[in-house]
Amino acid sequence: MQQQISDKKRLLSGMQPTGTGALHLGNLEGALRTWVRLQDDYHMYCCIVDWHALTTRYHDTEAIGPACRQVAADYIAAGLDPDKCAIFIQSHVKEHAELHLLLSMITPVGWVERVPTYKEKRDLLQERGEGDESISYGLLGYPVLQAADILLYRATAVPVGRDQAAHLEISRELARRFNRLYGETFPEPQALITEDTGVVPGIDGRKMSKSYGNAIYISDDADTVARKVKEAFTTPTKMRKSDPGVPEQCAVCQLRKLYDSQGYITSWDEDRQGIRGCMQNKAELTEILNGVLEPMRRRRNDLLNDPAELDRVLKRGADKAREAAEATMKFVRAAMHL
Ligand code: ADP
Repeated sequence: MQQQISDKKRLLSGMQPTGTGALHLGNLEGALRTWVRLQDDYHMYCCIVDWHALTTRYHDTEAIGPACRQVAADYIAAGLDPDKCAIFIQSHVKEHAELHLLLSMITPVGWVERVPTYKEKRDLLQERGEGDESISYGLLGYPVLQAADILLYRATAVPVGRDQAAHLEISRELARRFNRLYGETFPEPQALITEDTGVVPGIDGRKMSKSYGNAIYISDDADTVARKVKEAFTTPTKMRKSDPGVPEQCAVCQLRKLYDSQGYITSWDEDRQGIRGCMQNKAELTEILNGVLEPMRRRRNDLLNDPAELDRVLKRGADKAREAAEATMKFVRAAMHL
């Protein structure tokens, strides 16, 4: 059965529209760049998982729609091509909900209770004193919805960072369980470990993350990039220009290395020898970053300023995704005698 319905390899990738939805350099280098490279070799389904955002933001739903559009604009600004891959919003393809429901029936509760991200979120909410009522059934079911997202497209690959491969395990187990119960329907999705660019540091030297307030966003204008880089942490022991720097401990040097694969060598040497100051490093990084980001900013602004065009892109993506999803659901319903 599977033979009939699968052709070119399929790949599912997704991001949550958290916060304002704007994506940062960590998202760009840690995920989007890889997706862009893969879009020629796979049928790619690039989902913006708004229902997942509800697992923690059910009280704040107004911001989710606009955030989805920001994510879509960043996807395209980073180089995802709507002609090659399906760029769509999860809630526009209702089959995600149907498959989630069916999979939830065969998911042992113990499997989802054991998931570390659920346990972490639960502990965090409890720490904030938000109590048991803020931990929803939906939050517990998050991995089942994720499995539905992947299996719905019979994706054989899911691009993930090295530390996230374990997140796929429930999807794989659910595919196996479904196939055992109802006959071979889903391929087991494999983690496609994306080339390790390593962790992109934020301006405070910790991992760049929305939640740490240390991120440089694709959407930041040139002045904002300059201001953030100016505020960035450098070698803690370098007080004067003549003090030797330790580029490995300097967020500015690390970002330079990422965006200037040749030029950074000289700048690191000079920094180590104390013949280069942090101001120069920061000014040069600002220029390099703005050079990289400017075309992306333009592209995303064009899209966001033309809502009808963005709507068309998202509709086209959802139509393409729905076609694949509906084909899978026919097999699923038949396998379950529904
Ligand atoms: P955030 O921490 O800002 O909420 P997410 O956890 O939503 O980011 O990450 C979305 C994707 O971006 C994931 O694939 C993740 O691996 C990648 N990513 C996020 N931050 C970084 C970072 N600092 N360095 C490398 N990759 C990152």
